[in-house]
Amino acid sequence: MFMSRYIGRFAPSPTGLLHIGSLIAALASYLHARASQGQWLVRMEDLDPPREMPGAASAILQSLEDHGLTWDGEVLWQSQRHDAYRQVINDLLLANKAFYCTCSRSDLQGSNGVYQGQCRGCVTPPRDHDFALRLQVEDKAVAFDDEIQGRFSQQLEREVGDVVLQRKDGFFAYQLAVVVDDAYQGVSHVVRGSDLLDSTPRQIYLQQVMAYTTPDYLHFPVITNEQGDKLSKQTFAAPLDSREACKNLCVALAFLKQALPPEELCQQVNHIVAWAVEHWSVDDIPGVLGLPQSVIPAKAGIQCCQFPL
Ligand SMILES: [Zn+2]
Repeated sequence: MFMSRYIGRFAPSPTGLLHIGSLIAALASYLHARASQGQWLVRMEDLDPPREMPGAASAILQSLEDHGLTWDGEVLWQSQRHDAYRQVINDLLLANKAFYCTCSRSDLQGSNGVYQGQCRGCVTPPRDHDFALRLQVEDKAVAFDDEIQGRFSQQLEREVGDVVLQRKDGFFAYQLAVVVDDAYQGVSHVVRGSDLLDSTPRQIYLQQVMAYTTPDYLHFPVITNEQGDKLSKQTFAAPLDSREACKNLCVALAFLKQALPPEELCQQVNHIVAWAVEHWSVDDIPGVLGLPQSVIPAKAGIQCCQFPL
């Protein structure tokens, strides 16, 4: 049997319900994977319990199913991956690539958010102090070629500083968990919003330090609200209504500038999704949003079959 090497994923955080922006992310990663005969995995990034919303994780999974996006295998829960993250941090400490940082918020002010390496070399746990753990970055550029955004390069030491691996409050950092889990799940292609473009070089750097394979990246432009902010749970994007799943899928396809299915296929999510896999065209996804950025497809007069979008 032919086994595809393509493994994609969608990785929501259960801090709120799915909204149109997160549906776009789910759909883009799904279509890119399925159009490549690849697998599509779901990973629940439940790393930060105080920010999570009770019931959100199961509601997200239900919403994906309601929109015809079925995943392969079991959902991976980051809350069950702490031992793996701890092991990686221990390995980095032993290799002198990570260090303990006791800096307070005020210690870190005045450098544009770029950590200045104050605690480098601190390789034993400080007594009587709360501490974070950081990855020491090198004075070099980390670059990659994004499938939509083109070449993107960052000088980590100057532009970002040493990366937090475990926060002072004890929670593992997103940047660590995403890299460890992408490697663990064998993810070959990361398809996500351009708000994470900026995080990619530090993730690639950590992959290099850990001798993990670097996946291919595709960052599509993120949907914004009328203030130009990314639509997110924090900006109160409306939760998706599964009773409107067909329309939601067409709005998401329109945002990605994909062809829309003919009317007779728009009654069932499975038909829309199958049609979209067959017609998936990365070349049509815009690198940046056309002006006005604030206009989401639902308001842009895009006509889709019977839906007055
Ligand atoms: Zn420090």
